[in-house]
Amino acid sequence: MIRIVLLGAPGSGKGTQCKRLVTQYGIAHLSSGDILRKERAQGSQLGRKAQAYMDRGELVPDDLVIEMMLQAIKASPKGYVLDGFPRTLGQAIALDNALSKDGGRLDAVIYLDVNDTIIEDRMSGRRSCPTCGAVYHIRNLKPKKAGFCDHDGTPLVQRPDDELEVVKRRLITYHEQTRPLVDYYRSKGLLYEVDANDGADVVDVRLRRIIEGLGGSNKKASTVAEDRSDV
Ligand code: AMP
Repeated sequence: MIRIVLLGAPGSGKGTQCKRLVTQYGIAHLSSGDILRKERAQGSQLGRKAQAYMDRGELVPDDLVIEMMLQAIKASPKGYVLDGFPRTLGQAIALDNALSKDGGRLDAVIYLDVNDTIIEDRMSGRRSCPTCGAVYHIRNLKPKKAGFCDHDGTPLVQRPDDELEVVKRRLITYHEQTRPLVDYYRSKGLLYEVDANDGADVVDVRLRRIIEGLGGSNKKASTVAEDRSDV
């Protein structure tokens, strides 16, 4: 069972990498942003409460998100990769407490490190399909027919929170509230840092090297440390 957190700014590639990890390792992808968007689309009480915060690029209050994610974790006994959670120190501590209550702990927290200018470009150029959720980019990952989803032909949209002004606000929120988690997990000896300024395929190789060092391939800690030095 693998329990991993992918930590990084919005637009650092967490979602893309998580989808690959799910295919490779058969673990659940628990994305707090995706779950919140689903709740909104369903018009649930949680979705309605979260809506205004999300559209402003602010964080949804801790108590709402913590309860939602602990439920998702309970429903994933084969392991998971957390994407977008925890995002505050309060959320990280609540997660640690909940896991240790059941005698468990995280195996690793992988930090995808990306420059803010690259993030602004990635996010403001991102377009997604409101029907199937597929994600494109106006320059780096174009659909076959401009403006339409390859899978179902639905017109692509820009998420309101991917507009440049909101992206800038989300980055400020990230630096203030989420970035401190890097030091928190480093002090616990759980942090692995990955240069994620490169393309998805390169980052994928760096991630897999770390995950396979966690025990899946019986590597010793020293070998993992060597792997970490060149990612
Ligand atoms: P994401 O798709 O992860 O960038 O999340 C989209 C939005 O959902 C964020 O800008 C927040 O408003 C909200 N959100 C997602 N995850 C969290 C979290 N762990 N804590 C608070 N708000 C969150």
